[in-house]
Amino acid sequence: MALRNIVIEGDPILRKVCRPVDEVTDRIRMILDDMVDTMRDAQGVGLAAPQVGIMRRMFVAEPEVDEIYYFVNPEIVASEGEEEGEEACLSVPELAGKVVRPTKITIRGLDRDGNPQEHTFEGFHARVMCHEYDHLDGILYRDKAEQMFRPEEPSPDERNDQ
Ligand code: ZN
Repeated sequence: MALRNIVIEGDPILRKVCRPVDEVTDRIRMILDDMVDTMRDAQGVGLAAPQVGIMRRMFVAEPEVDEIYYFVNPEIVASEGEEEGEEACLSVPELAGKVVRPTKITIRGLDRDGNPQEHTFEGFHARVMCHEYDHLDGILYRDKAEQMFRPEEPSPDERNDQ
């Protein structure tokens, strides 16, 4: 297990557009695995590569316990509907915000083995994927939030950070 430092808002790294991954190599897999460890350690439900200082288009997500997704070079190929919901971000500590996201998306990309994958997600799952995807284009949820606030005393085991 290897934890990586999470980049915090204010660092220009979070505002850059990431480059595609050329090939899913052992090194890429190692970074993805470190990202999962780092996400879990920080009690998040998603983590994008630029959040650990890697400027490549990939992210990991665990919208439900033990349901891990690895997306390399993801593309959102369809989206529909919209709904407002609460979000937080491991790179934007101690804050939360309400953001409108699609209710349903279809996302395509490579998996941890470099094989093509496509998933359709709804609700919270779709929200997590959109949030992580935005990181790859230098977008933070704050940019889209209609209001930002400090959550009231979140319990230590609350898992709402992405
Ligand atoms: Zn985030």
